[in-house]
Amino acid sequence: MSTIRVGHLYPDYLNIYADRGNIAVLTRRAAWRGHELEVAPLGMRDPVTPGEHDLYYVGGGQDREQLLVAEDLVRKSEPLHEAVRGGAAVLAVCGGYQLLGRGYRGFHGEDMPGIGLLPLDTVAGERRMIGDVLIECELDPGEKRTVAGFENHAGRTRLDPGAEPLGRVLAGFGNDGEGGFEGCRAGRVIGTYLHGPLLPRNAWLADWLLAQALAHRLGTDESPALEPLPDELERSAHEVSAARARSRGGRFD
Ligand code: GLN
Repeated sequence: MSTIRVGHLYPDYLNIYADRGNIAVLTRRAAWRGHELEVAPLGMRDPVTPGEHDLYYVGGGQDREQLLVAEDLVRKSEPLHEAVRGGAAVLAVCGGYQLLGRGYRGFHGEDMPGIGLLPLDTVAGERRMIGDVLIECELDPGEKRTVAGFENHAGRTRLDPGAEPLGRVLAGFGNDGEGGFEGCRAGRVIGTYLHGPLLPRNAWLADWLLAQALAHRLGTDESPALEPLPDELERSAHEVSAARARSRGGRFD
């Protein structure tokens, strides 16, 4: 039984579409396995100490909120890079995902610096990409799983050649509405446009993140296997969301 330590970046600024619900899912799924999730808010001017957290979480936000936190995030860049080199996991959603890249040019042309934890750039386009999304991921070789969620972004994200997307788009827009891929993954760092929040309808992904965080906590390369849970409700939530994405997909607005 371990304590999993989560650093929640800017909970007061980056939290739309109930992104905070992702933390609730992690807390409960850890507790069901006898682990405690200790969540520390990391706001403006709060220092990041490498090694202190097993998982960092950053939610989504509108351009205005992203502008407010971007400079501060750059001040946290070096310790965050060191934490990730030391094996910490990261989940970043939408606005947070964009700021994990090299930078984001917002809808009104504001240039926001990113921290380069993921090999990508984002520039806002004229029309927002909105709607239900379904993607197919293979985070562990040979294990194909789907992730369902909701996207609403003006940003078009371009991954560097050779970068690993989080998944392949089955329905919806994804990173840029044309390349057929969604999100980005670099080791234990995951960025995605999917809100809703993301984890209640994708319980397997919550477990994958918990396992990465536990591996950091235990100092192992291999992530520990988590005891399976019944997940009937979680599976239905996924199915409803996946079916909505398949029938409606995304639309420009
Ligand atoms: N402001 C960003 C965009 O519009 C991110 C939006 C979000 O987090 N939903 O692209």
